[in-house]
Amino acid sequence: MSDETRQAPARIRGGRESRDIGIDLGTANTLVYMRGHGIVLNEPSVVAVKAGSTTALAVGTEAKETIGRTPGSITAIRPLKDGVISDYEAAEEMIRHFVRKAVPGRRPRTRMVVCVPSGVTPVERRAIVHAADRAGARAVHLIEEPMAAAIGAGLPVSSARGSMVVDIGGGTTEVAVISLGGIVTARSLRVGGDRMDAAITDYVRKEHQLLIGERTAEHIKIAIGSAWPVPALPELEERTFTVRGRQKVAGLPKTLELSVAEVRSALDEPIESIIAAVRSTLEECPPELSGDIMEHGIVLTGGGALLPGLELRLSAATGIPVFVADEPLDCVALGSGKCVEGFDNLQKLLAAS
Ligand code: ADP
Ligand code: MG
Repeated sequence: MSDETRQAPARIRGGRESRDIGIDLGTANTLVYMRGHGIVLNEPSVVAVKAGSTTALAVGTEAKETIGRTPGSITAIRPLKDGVISDYEAAEEMIRHFVRKAVPGRRPRTRMVVCVPSGVTPVERRAIVHAADRAGARAVHLIEEPMAAAIGAGLPVSSARGSMVVDIGGGTTEVAVISLGGIVTARSLRVGGDRMDAAITDYVRKEHQLLIGERTAEHIKIAIGSAWPVPALPELEERTFTVRGRQKVAGLPKTLELSVAEVRSALDEPIESIIAAVRSTLEECPPELSGDIMEHGIVLTGGGALLPGLELRLSAATGIPVFVADEPLDCVALGSGKCVEGFDNLQKLLAAS
């Protein structure tokens, strides 16, 4: 544990311990921010269950290790994979597990701010609130993910100035224009890091007759993936990645060298979908606000923002400057954290449960 996570807990009126937390319930990763402590938990949003039962065998990092390696009797579930809850019981189990891990002991006074993908339905929202309640919350507030991402990226969300944030997660990309503390226009598409991984898997299968798993595809993307040549990274173009997989026809193991250019072309389709969503959101945007965005630029958050050259490609396609936020993977959790730290000031940004 770092010194920061060991410092004295924050206190609220009455002198008793407050353990207010913010939760970024992402499709790929869940982060927990504790008031006065910062981010105290960061694990994959994965639950491993015994096939045909609802008993969780492992949650988080331990469960992710099992993906693609599990015997038939264990299934790894990502309860929020596409930004909607695919498995309520697993989602509830995951929330309860992470809250208990982040806040051990009794949680009588814990208030929670939970960030949810903007595509979740009212039924799913109620399910999340219910799960947080059962995990020991005194009060639960929900906040839309793009709003939390914008706050965490340091955008002036409360001012009249229009800001655009593009949060590229695992299962979804959220594009939003924010002004005066509200979302003016937004889009949520089911394209993100997972679709990029699938595009790599498809490419390797079609072009090289090699079968690879989703975790291998993600490794390739993170190691040598890019959206556009990056002048600041000239050595990137020379990199290759040695992939091990199984031959489609013979079924035998085989290795293959993939180039940066190949992976870039494989990623073309999901990246173009994200660009199209940004374009159409800009087209819907009131002219005053698009002027602000032209001037101040678009900010990228989420793990997908780490793909080299994405900001250059998006900027070339829109004619607008694009910036990657600092620590893009942490923005949503830090935004929820800001709400937790300033609970009373930011109440108006939260949709009370
Ligand atoms: P979510 O909010 O949906 O849980 P995250 O914001 O945590 O998603 O981002 C997870 C996604 O980011 C994953 O698909 C992961 O592969 C991708 N990712 C992480 N690091 C990189 C990187 N360096 N380059 C490209 N993609 C990345
Ligand atoms: Mg996210």
